[in-house]
Amino acid sequence: MEKTLFQKICDREIPATIVYEDDLCVSFKDITPEAPVHLLLVPRKPIPRIAAATAEDQALLGHLLLTAPKIAREQGFADDGFRIVINCGKNGGETVPHLHVHILAGRQMTWPPG
Ligand code: 5GP
Repeated sequence: MEKTLFQKICDREIPATIVYEDDLCVSFKDITPEAPVHLLLVPRKPIPRIAAATAEDQALLGHLLLTAPKIAREQGFADDGFRIVINCGKNGGETVPHLHVHILAGRQMTWPPG
């Protein structure tokens, strides 16, 4: 099975600015930032998208959701607030088929998103 783009980043086969990593996940700067802070948080396990996750992934998904605010605290933008986004499938705007959490911060977010 060929590695996904984000697996290659996790394995440092493709360069990225990594800001956090642990046994289960890696966070790095998005290459096309949509906000002053735009990080991606990905599981090392190449789950294609949130709709492909199973009960087996429950703990991993919980870990991702707890790690996003941990990164926000560590990076110093938690107090000002941030947004997390998971795009799923064509209408969701997914372009990379490896589950990832967008972490956006550093400006006032608007709702609804475009
Ligand atoms: P999606 O549209 O699938 O929710 O988000 C994919 C994100 O991955 C996009 O925000 C895009 O800018 C980012 N991205 C795509 N290729 C690369 C890359 O090679 N390196 C990094 N750091 N980000 C990437």
